[in-house]
Amino acid sequence: MYRGRIAPTPTGLLHLGHGRTFYHAWLRARNAGGAIIYRNEDLDPQRCKPEFAHAAMEDLRWLGLDWDEGPDVGGDFEPYDQSARGDHYLAAWRNLRDGGWIYPCQRSRKDIARATVAPHAEDELSEPLFPVDWRNPVKDALDYGTPDGINWRFRVPDGITLRFSDAFAGEQSFTALLDFGDFLVWRRDNVPAYELAVVVDDAAMAITEVVRGEDLLLSTARQLLLYAALRLPAPSFCHLPLLCDENGRRLAKRNHATALKTLREQSIQPAELAIHWQSLKQACRIHLKSTNN
Ligand code: GLU
Repeated sequence: MYRGRIAPTPTGLLHLGHGRTFYHAWLRARNAGGAIIYRNEDLDPQRCKPEFAHAAMEDLRWLGLDWDEGPDVGGDFEPYDQSARGDHYLAAWRNLRDGGWIYPCQRSRKDIARATVAPHAEDELSEPLFPVDWRNPVKDALDYGTPDGINWRFRVPDGITLRFSDAFAGEQSFTALLDFGDFLVWRRDNVPAYELAVVVDDAAMAITEVVRGEDLLLSTARQLLLYAALRLPAPSFCHLPLLCDENGRRLAKRNHATALKTLREQSIQPAELAIHWQSLKQACRIHLKSTNN
């Protein structure tokens, strides 16, 4: 059976772009006669706030979405809050350690930003490649009983090309050490990295298709490596174009003019939005006032 998911991170109010992506995730599941799961990605205790988790559910319900499993409705794969799933991530960390896939790393994000430039610097989301000569041996991992207090990186197989066929974006291919380097799976403040948590959860929750924004296409290549290393079945993928403002910039949570909550307060009807969202092939620009307030 088709199992899709909606997985917001509660670091701010959801905007129109989130609304459109989640609407399509929901629609694909409903059209397939499948289930849609709501997962609250509240891993980062510094940045995530319960009031945003609450607001996200309220906004999505206003849009007309519902879900079959989630933090508020329960389900067979509880808990649905990432902050309560630490055991799952720790088990995966141990598997990666034992399998010789990861190594402890003293370098900070700042060190990396100083030492190198992103491979596709014109793309604002492109991250700098972790320098190969900063790698530690994966056998060092065996000295550690827990991941605490140090960053952990996945050692990408040199030059491997990851290919997948995306339901919206088409054929994709990314090459390790060219498009992305060794990536974080665990942070030294003892928070599992997004890449690890999302793979562990999508597999544990038996998700069959991941629908999300195309800003995560490159992440999918990393995640495919994690699925293989953890011997977990990978879902299919469908990455949707992002909405931009009238200046061509991606919508940001900090700009409240495009927040779903703001539109709701302006008495805009959800049906009006859904009509605009039917065709993803239409221009992805919206023309709303983008003042920061
Ligand atoms: N929680 C992520 C976000 O809000 C989405 C992750 C995903 O869909 O894989 O950007």
